[in-house]
Amino acid sequence: MSNSYRTIILARMGEIALKGLNRGKFERQLMDNMRWRLKEYGAFSIVQSQSRIWIEPKDVNPDVLEDKETAELVLNAVTQVFGLVSASLVRKFSGDMETIKEQALKLTEDILAEHDYKTFKVESKRGDKRFPLASPEICAREEMYVYSEKVEGHRGLPVGTAGKGMLLLSGGIDSPVAGYMMASRGMQLEAIYFHSYPYTSERALEKVKDLARIVSQYSGTILLHVCNFTDIQLNLYKNSPQDMLTITMRRIMFEIAEELANKQGCKCLITGESLGQVASQTIEAIQITNEVVKTMPVFRPLIGLDKEETCNISRRIGAFETSILPYEDCCTVFVAKHPKTHPQKKHIVEAEANLDIEALVKQGVEGIETYKIERTSKN
Ligand code: ATP
Ligand code: MG
Repeated sequence: MSNSYRTIILARMGEIALKGLNRGKFERQLMDNMRWRLKEYGAFSIVQSQSRIWIEPKDVNPDVLEDKETAELVLNAVTQVFGLVSASLVRKFSGDMETIKEQALKLTEDILAEHDYKTFKVESKRGDKRFPLASPEICAREEMYVYSEKVEGHRGLPVGTAGKGMLLLSGGIDSPVAGYMMASRGMQLEAIYFHSYPYTSERALEKVKDLARIVSQYSGTILLHVCNFTDIQLNLYKNSPQDMLTITMRRIMFEIAEELANKQGCKCLITGESLGQVASQTIEAIQITNEVVKTMPVFRPLIGLDKEETCNISRRIGAFETSILPYEDCCTVFVAKHPKTHPQKKHIVEAEANLDIEALVKQGVEGIETYKIERTSKN
């Protein structure tokens, strides 16, 4: 008995289906993103029909999905594209009715054995409701699609439908999650990392690149801008009071990030701040840091999450293991013993009296080096 099936993938669209007039734009972006995400696995025909998407290997590589391991990888890649609620590996049977029956029976036996299931139910659906037959009659047609499992997608909206944001990416747990969350709303990402070499090691930068690479599985390519922050920090260290160091440092970071964001066409800043988590994240500290950003919103998607919830998302997107690797970040090196947790305006005026902020921001922006980070890149 020869195989009369091919393995293909069925993906199901989520929120996009609710879009009104510009639904077409969202769908086109989703299809582009899927093509981009799958290109490393071979050539696929990706066809949309209503709220379903059918992914089928092209003739140049007809068997890519017949290997179980590869099929799982491709399925996983599909579920990482924002805009999909779920996806399944599907056996597409064709041939005469007898052959289809035999093959379907064999497949069912395999599935039952693999999972040790005792009972099962067969359902048939018409993907295209305009089709004139009722569902039971479709089972009499000579092509049949069979699947037994659904893998959850990451939902959201296709990246590229909501402009671009500048993520302040550190080596911690929070900021990669923040980037992932904004990307899930359709936002393309660039990122800036403030590097304090040699106070922080080369490894710390490598870790940030690794995290950007993990986020890029979902968000697509990320331009990672690395700002050499050491001289600026030493300047602040010398010329500004210890207990305000965290705040003055964060204000300069935000100003540099905003200037770069404007240069790059980003429409917002994104941070991993969560209210009350650490001294620099009291409402007063956030207010005083926020006020330096004049031209765009600062999004803090984790503001209302507790650490446990953030860690869960971090695990789910595969960032956690990398985030907890013990490389120091720039804030821990220059951190004061007793930072002011409820800074007031007058404190910041005093703290910045001896600083040439404009010159420091300019210095920061001019020293930026940029890397292109992609899932498959090794830089
Ligand atoms: P994370 O887990 O993201 O490192 P955190 O809990 O350590 O955050 P902070 O160190 O106070 O908190 O940083 C708050 C936010 O400021 C970070 O989520 C990130 O968006 C930004 N940030 C902090 N340090 C850096 C850095 N060196 N480069 C770029 N952004 C940074
Ligand atoms: Mg941190």
